[in-house]
Amino acid sequence: MSNIILEARDIRYRYPRGMEAIRGVSFHIRKGEKIALVGPNGAGKSTLMLMFNGMLRPDSGTMLFDDVPIRYDKASLRTLRRRVGFVLQNPDRQIIAPTVYQDVAFGPANLGYDEEAVRQAVTLALRQVGLEGFESRPPHLLSDGEKKRVAIAGVLAMDPDVLVFDEPTSSLDPSGSEDIMELLDELNQEGKTIVISTHDVELAYPWAHRAILLTDGRILQEDVPDIAFGNPELIRMAHLSMPTLLEIANELKKRGFPVPDQKPRSVLDMVQLIESSAGRSSEDSAPGTITVCNVDRDRIDSLPAWVDAHAPLAIGAMGTRAKQCAAQEGLELEFTYGVIDKCILRALRGRNSLILTTGSMAGRVSVRVEAYCRESGITIPVHPFDTNGETDNFPPPDGGG
Ligand code: ADP
Repeated sequence: MSNIILEARDIRYRYPRGMEAIRGVSFHIRKGEKIALVGPNGAGKSTLMLMFNGMLRPDSGTMLFDDVPIRYDKASLRTLRRRVGFVLQNPDRQIIAPTVYQDVAFGPANLGYDEEAVRQAVTLALRQVGLEGFESRPPHLLSDGEKKRVAIAGVLAMDPDVLVFDEPTSSLDPSGSEDIMELLDELNQEGKTIVISTHDVELAYPWAHRAILLTDGRILQEDVPDIAFGNPELIRMAHLSMPTLLEIANELKKRGFPVPDQKPRSVLDMVQLIESSAGRSSEDSAPGTITVCNVDRDRIDSLPAWVDAHAPLAIGAMGTRAKQCAAQEGLELEFTYGVIDKCILRALRGRNSLILTTGSMAGRVSVRVEAYCRESGITIPVHPFDTNGETDNFPPPDGGG
């Protein structure tokens, strides 16, 4: 079996009485990828994505799911829609029931689950999106971000392999957008393939494994983000703008700075590039440490006292449950998105931080920090949270955050 989960082969589609919206599009999406479909308004992103779960049928060409051409009979579509979940841009169009529970239960009940299985599916989905306790709330009284989470839970309740999000952050404020993007990361970490459409290059550039640039119903480019967004000509043709980090990297290169082939994807990468070009190292002062607390496993009731004992300390939380745990323990979060990089940047200034996380994401901290340390030659200690142990290795407080 191949690792390709969705594939389009020369897809064309024209709306009745409309222009041809998709004009010969081919691509593939691998299992476990985070894909951004990027293009201006009217490029054909929504049209194309509606074909991923058979809501639209191409006029010609073939859409394949798990290597098998999609069939459009009722039974096949029912199976497909369980495996490919679609989250609409506007949650008001997706949410249909008078309570959160009933809304999230709609999908599994429709699939014929018995009452207990529906209850389990709803409980798990609401837990995944951080809306436990919202069961009896009327969705129309929730905030935009909460409505979005209800819509996502409704799709998650069917445990799909692929989640497709049309403009997931439109209508959300910056912090609501960061929360949703982090939720998508978390779901990806749990094994889901994630596809989003967006015209926001700053959002797509650091997030996606690969970006597909679409304009006028055609694919202009499909590659890792620094290549997909790195060609000024294509970016102009797609009516987009180059991500700021990439633009700065290009300017530095023109000025003779040694910019690596792998372009900076984050502020941390950019700081490293500038510091190494300038012959300076953050290691002039001893790096701070990063302590990782797995809130699923560690004794979180001892966290507040531990935090007090190790002040000053910045706290970051990765994932829905970790953020809930921080709120429950009254811990103030400094970082809620891009947490690992922000803690590395802080460590480079000799300052300590604590990352709250959960099972599936805990491993990402050491992987990312180790990769940074290998590249930079700087050693940043990462400790597991342990109320008995590691105080001895902890550097003295640094006088401010
Ligand atoms: P995007 O999601 O990139 O903004 P869409 O897929 O919504 O783009 O639209 C692609 C093209 O198809 C546009 O020209 C749009 O006007 C047209 N279109 C979208 N929906 C319809 C529709 N229901 N009927 C006719 N034309 C449509």
